[in-house]
Amino acid sequence: MGLIVQKFGGSSVADADRIRNVARIITETYRRGHKVVVILSAQGDTTDDLITKAAEINPEASRREMDMLLATGEQVSCALCAMAIEAMGYPVISLTGWQSGMKTNSSFGNARIKRVVPERVLDELDRRSIVLVTGFQGVNKYGDITTLGRGGSDTSAVAMAAALQADLCQIFTDVDGIYTADPRIVKNARKLEEITFDEMLELATLGAQVLHNRSVELAKRYNVNLEVLSSFTGTPGTKVKEVVKPMMEKTYISGVAKDKDVARLAVIGLADEPGIAFRIFSLMAKEKINVDIILQSIGRHSTKDISFTVCKGDLEQAQKVLDENKSLLGFDHVDVSDNVAKVSVVGAGMVNNSGVAATMFEALYNAGININMISTSEIKISVLVNIEDADRATQVIHDRFFDEYGHRD
Ligand code: ADP
Ligand code: ASP
Ligand code: MG
Repeated sequence: MGLIVQKFGGSSVADADRIRNVARIITETYRRGHKVVVILSAQGDTTDDLITKAAEINPEASRREMDMLLATGEQVSCALCAMAIEAMGYPVISLTGWQSGMKTNSSFGNARIKRVVPERVLDELDRRSIVLVTGFQGVNKYGDITTLGRGGSDTSAVAMAAALQADLCQIFTDVDGIYTADPRIVKNARKLEEITFDEMLELATLGAQVLHNRSVELAKRYNVNLEVLSSFTGTPGTKVKEVVKPMMEKTYISGVAKDKDVARLAVIGLADEPGIAFRIFSLMAKEKINVDIILQSIGRHSTKDISFTVCKGDLEQAQKVLDENKSLLGFDHVDVSDNVAKVSVVGAGMVNNSGVAATMFEALYNAGININMISTSEIKISVLVNIEDADRATQVIHDRFFDEYGHRD
C-alpha cells in the first residue's frame, strides 16, 4: 500500500474515450489500495490552440494574461476526468495549481516551483479521495496564476511526488518508455529498461521531449522513483534512476536527441582583440538570452567572426541587441539562420572513449550531411545541421552506434 503520483499527458486525455481509459488506470491503482494523486495535462493540442486564439486577439499579449489563458486547458482535463471517475462510483476531487499548493516565482510562462504546500491534497487523501491536480500551473506570491513552460506538467508531477514523498511517480504518455532516439523519427530505436537521471537530463535538455528536463532535475535532487510508460498499452515502461545495472555489452552512448528549437547568429568582421566575446555575451546575458553553442574563428587580417546559437524565440531580440550595439562591438554584419537543428549523442560512457566524436562525424560524412557547428561536454556531443537534414542525421547516427556497436538493453 503506497502513495502513487500518476501523470497523463495531452494525448492520453485527448477525447472522452481516452479520459475514460485514464479513469480506469487511476481507479485500478486506487482499488489495489494505493493513495493516488494524478497530474493532468491539457487535452490534445489545447495549449497550442489557446496560443493561436490569443494571437488572434493580441499578438503582444502580456505573459500574465497568457498564463491566465493557458492554465484553463489543464482545468478542463481535470474536471472532465473527475466526472468520469465520479461516474464509475469512486470518491474523487479535482484541484487547481493554487489549491494544491504549487507555489512558484513570478516568471510568467516559465515559472519555477519554489515550494509545494500540499495540505489540501493530504487532507483529501486522508478522506480516501482520488486527487486530480492540474499540471503545468502554479501561483505566485501575489496570487497570480503562473505556468511552468511548455511540457511542464512532468515537472508538476515530480514536484508533487517529491513533496508528498510518494513511493512512485509514473509519467504516462503516448510511447511505452524512453527509447534510444525518438521512436517517431527512428523506427528501429530501442526501448530502454532503465536510464540514469544524468543521461535523461542531458537527453531531455537536448530535445527529447518525452520528459521536461526540469522534472528530471527535480527527480534526481529528491530521489523520486520515476517511471515513463504508455497509457495506451499497459506494458512496463522505463525506470529513470540514479544508478543503472551494469551492461553485459559495453556501449558508449545511451541515446540520440534532436532539437529544432535552435537559431544561429554569426557576427562577422569583429576586431581581433581582447574583450569582444565578453561584450557580446554580456549583452546577451543582460537580456536573459541563453546562449548555447559558441564558435569563434581564428583571427585573420585582424578580424574574426563569432557564431552562437540561441532558442528560436530569442532570435529576434538577440539580433536587435547586436544591431543596437553595432558601433560598440564594431562588426561588419550579422548573419542569422533559423533553418538549423541540433542533433546530439548522449552517454556517460563516452568520457573515456575518444572514438565517439569521430564515429558520429563519420556517420554524417557517409550520409553527405554537412556540420555547421560542434560542441562537446563530458557526456554529450552536439552538432548543428541544416533543418532538412536533421531527421536523417538522427537516423544515421543512431544506426552507427546502435546497429554496429551492439545494443543497450
Ligand atoms: P505528453 O503529451 O504525454 O507529455 P510528449 O509529446 O511531451 O507527450 O512526449 C512524448 C513524445 O516524446 C513521444 O511521442 C516521442 O515522439 C517523443 N520523444 C522524443 N525523444 C524520445 C525518446 N528518446 N524516447 C521516447 N520518446 C521520445
Ligand atoms: N499543456 C502544456 C503544454 O502543452 C503542459 C504539458 O502538456 O506538459 O505544454
Ligand atoms: Mg510532455
